[in-house]
Amino acid sequence: MITIAVANQKGGVGKTTTAINIATAMAATGWKTLLIDLDPQGNASTGMGVMAADREVSSYDILVDEVSLRDCVSKTNIPGLDIVPATVDLSGAEVELVSVKDRTSRLSRALAGHHGHEICFIDCPPSLGLLTLNALGAADTLLVPLQCEFFALEGLSQLLQTVEQVQQRFNPDLGIIGIVLTMFDRRNRLTDQVADDVRDCLGDLVFEAVIPRNVRLSEAPSHGLPALIYDHNCAGSRAYMTLARELIGRLPERRKAA
Ligand code: ATP
Ligand code: MG
Repeated sequence: MITIAVANQKGGVGKTTTAINIATAMAATGWKTLLIDLDPQGNASTGMGVMAADREVSSYDILVDEVSLRDCVSKTNIPGLDIVPATVDLSGAEVELVSVKDRTSRLSRALAGHHGHEICFIDCPPSLGLLTLNALGAADTLLVPLQCEFFALEGLSQLLQTVEQVQQRFNPDLGIIGIVLTMFDRRNRLTDQVADDVRDCLGDLVFEAVIPRNVRLSEAPSHGLPALIYDHNCAGSRAYMTLARELIGRLPERRKAA
């Protein structure tokens, strides 16, 4: 299984929207896909239609009680896409794990040797705390949604520093599969300028595919559906399908054949 953390410590940049829709796109392309909600807000769970009352097992159980991953996976309504939901308890995990010795490797231990899925996306919370560190410790690579706004690059350099520290301390092979520009608005000149700056700075690391600002993407979670199912033909859904194709192109060879 290849594990991709969808992370950016900045809030509201499109992490969850990206995690849900890229996971759906991969499942639709025939990949056995797992989505792990690692955010106490539980937006990915709600957005996939897993209501709070139905979250009997969650990512909290994996991190704090060391329940096996297999026992925390629930099915979604989408064939080929399973989920480990999150509950509000997870906000306590940061504190509960603070004095635990292997606190940054709980998730990576749970994922090691897991065989039921070919690809896994982890939806991270908007912070660089223990939850995100667990995701970065468990991931093969990182997918970074970046909103084209003035402070985007500053936030990104902080994230890249954290990635370097994680590589030095506990996950030397952690890569960055790409940065995806989200909520792109062609009519806004600042958006264009930031996009140009990001591409100048980071080159090929930035995906060609750009996710436009699209109201259908923001409506879909209130129906408990990925936008790709809610309206597969809207501009946002089409952009996520394009992103998925590009992502597959960047996966190691042996995975592409899956
Ligand atoms: P958080 O940091 O709180 O976890 P996030 O980075 O996961 O946030 P999302 O929840 O995906 O970000 O998006 C923030 C808000 O913007 C949501 O209301 C979402 O529906 C909306 N949104 C995300 N992407 C788009 C888009 N491309 N066009 C329009 N609205 C979007
Ligand atoms: Mg989110």
